[in-house]
Amino acid sequence: MAVCGKRQYDLLEKMGFVRISGTAEEDRAAHILMDEIASLGLKAEQVPFEVEDGTVEKAEFAVLEPEYKKYTVTGYKLAGCTAEGGEDHEFMYLEQFDDVMLAQAKGKVVLINGRMTADNYKKLIAAGAAGFVTMGGTVIDEVEKTDLDTRTLRPTLSEHGLMPAFHIRMTDALEILKSGATKVHIELHTTPRKYNSHNVVCEIPGTEKPDEIVDFGAHYDSVEFSPGVWDNAAGCVTIMEILRHFVEHPPVRTCRFIFFGSEELGLLGSKAYVAAIPEDELPKHVFMVNADVGGSVLGMNSAAVTADESLCKYVEFMAKELGYSTGVRQSIMSSDSVPFADRGVPAINFARGGGPGMPGMGFMHTRYDMISLISPEALAVVTEFAVAFSDRMVNAKIFPVPRTIPKNIREDLDRYLAKKPAEAK
Ligand SMILES: [Zn+2]
Repeated sequence: MAVCGKRQYDLLEKMGFVRISGTAEEDRAAHILMDEIASLGLKAEQVPFEVEDGTVEKAEFAVLEPEYKKYTVTGYKLAGCTAEGGEDHEFMYLEQFDDVMLAQAKGKVVLINGRMTADNYKKLIAAGAAGFVTMGGTVIDEVEKTDLDTRTLRPTLSEHGLMPAFHIRMTDALEILKSGATKVHIELHTTPRKYNSHNVVCEIPGTEKPDEIVDFGAHYDSVEFSPGVWDNAAGCVTIMEILRHFVEHPPVRTCRFIFFGSEELGLLGSKAYVAAIPEDELPKHVFMVNADVGGSVLGMNSAAVTADESLCKYVEFMAKELGYSTGVRQSIMSSDSVPFADRGVPAINFARGGGPGMPGMGFMHTRYDMISLISPEALAVVTEFAVAFSDRMVNAKIFPVPRTIPKNIREDLDRYLAKKPAEAK
């Protein structure tokens, strides 16, 4: 049976609720996927893995001077806690991480531009800052229409030391700077929490080469406030169509389908899956196909090749042959293909997005990642190509992609895995 955008859309609609790591809703989404797989006559397994995250009990931020005003903030999970009752500190706007600014940061709570990176965090620790504040949203946000997300101080940062950290609305930050704030009161209490998240895994054994495994993956979790239809129920329904294709056309090689939990906390599901592959089984995993973001009416198709450059040419030729418009680039993508590539399994990422009117992070990871921006046709167009491509790979006489990770990709992977920004993606 051919790809059916309507069927994809229906499943996507069923999954269109907030599915945060470790919640009952993430579990509910896992069961929707397992039910769908069961309806195809296969059995999926829900494989648990442990997540170390945190909760925030209290996050408060107030300007003390020149005039008292309290602001709504979220606290970074797993950041440093303040004393009970909070602390008063001087405040500054650390516009950039240069020597001039850093020399003034000692003992101060600093407001920064953009995300906190591991490099900049290290500089801030060395400068002796008392805490930092990041800004979310835009200067034209309206409180009723936007949400302030809760972030996590990732281990790649906290390993350098701890300090309290907060996230504030851009509009409030602007007001604070215009008020000439010099002193603030902060309070943060956060505690570590361990819980289980799950991958949904199912396998179709290869008819001729069962010992060669192609992995197919998409994450099914979403972030706070986001129904996550574009990111990434769309990828799930793409992979589900590929699964359906191989149920109907038994594959030469073994196909493993994994719907990952907790991607948004730092690729945790795929990291757990890849870490659990025994050393002697690893060489059998010849390739990985990942789908992350798709189905948006506005936008364009793309393929990120985390593999030998020859695969870019292969995809370009095949796209021309089938009349499929797509950007093709050799790169890593901030998604579940990364842990595979890190252990030597080459990969490709199929996506559709980047359309106008949905500026980057303003759309992604917000309540506006909603089904009205998605269409069955836009889902199907990428999926049809992904199915055709996967069919060729899985059934090839000789597996065409070298099982190597090129040097430039290796360097990108190392950089990415060591210097992941403080927030998801
Ligand atoms: Zn995603």
